[in-house]
Amino acid sequence: MTFRTRFAPSPTGPLHLGHAYSALLAYDMAMCEGGDFLLRIEDIDQGRARLAWEAQIYDDLKWLGICWPEPVMRQSDRLGQYRMAIETSALAGLIYPCGCSRADIKEALSAPQEGVAVYGPDGLVYPGTCRPEEGISVKRQWNEGDTLRLDMRAAVTHLGASKSRHGPFTFSFTETGEGPNGETGLIEFTPDALIETIGDVVLARRDMGTSYHLSVVLDDAAQKISHVVRGRDLFEATKIHVVLQQLLGLPTPTYHHHKLIRDEDGKRLAKRDDARAISKYREDGLTPQDIRAMVGL
Ligand code: GLU
Repeated sequence: MTFRTRFAPSPTGPLHLGHAYSALLAYDMAMCEGGDFLLRIEDIDQGRARLAWEAQIYDDLKWLGICWPEPVMRQSDRLGQYRMAIETSALAGLIYPCGCSRADIKEALSAPQEGVAVYGPDGLVYPGTCRPEEGISVKRQWNEGDTLRLDMRAAVTHLGASKSRHGPFTFSFTETGEGPNGETGLIEFTPDALIETIGDVVLARRDMGTSYHLSVVLDDAAQKISHVVRGRDLFEATKIHVVLQQLLGLPTPTYHHHKLIRDEDGKRLAKRDDARAISKYREDGLTPQDIRAMVGL
């Protein structure tokens, strides 16, 4: 199998050292394997994405010595594909519209009968306030602008029914890097863990028609990515991606979650860490080799 990976930045701020590490590591792995390195611009958040940031991403990556085939995939060009996936796949019968704000979710979870609130990859696990009672065979109605959630219990039941009729089953993916707790190799997780620790994730954000999870899964498949190389902070979200791949009939790539680059206080770098922006280091006269040395490559 050809090794094919990608770097998928969101053009919502400058690339910093953490992005440089991720892009260089993926690029080095692809070159070492005689494979392909692709670039994808994850710009579904049109309220925050800027063409100027996108231009700077191209500039910074070229300066780092990275090259990629054109044309670059941009998520804003693929909104129709995301919509179609929601409307025409198994997802159509497994999602429901949700009108809860973050404050509503917090409030619902503070009710005494809810027990301890659980945090999943997207924050608090949704308490199910808007989840309809009826069975999963009913195609639910929604509008263009709705927030749509995946009914996780219905989703794993649907997959369980199609997998086997005998006994429990697990989901899995192969990890060649490490999760936050050193997880590596074959990573297995149960339907119950998905329901309890991840829950009804948002698949389409209000007025966006999609979400990071849905887009990333469809795009990795469309780009025939064999190895996803990305930060360890996305390890738990990979479980959502595996479920979506199965619901959409898509292959699961191999995953390589890498260390996060942190500041002197041990905090993960964020977009607002302009002081560590690649462009700033360039202005200060550092070389791509200096950047490699700083991130340990
Ligand atoms: N756009 C995501 C980010 O910038 C990339 C996530 C991924 O590589 O799957 O964090």
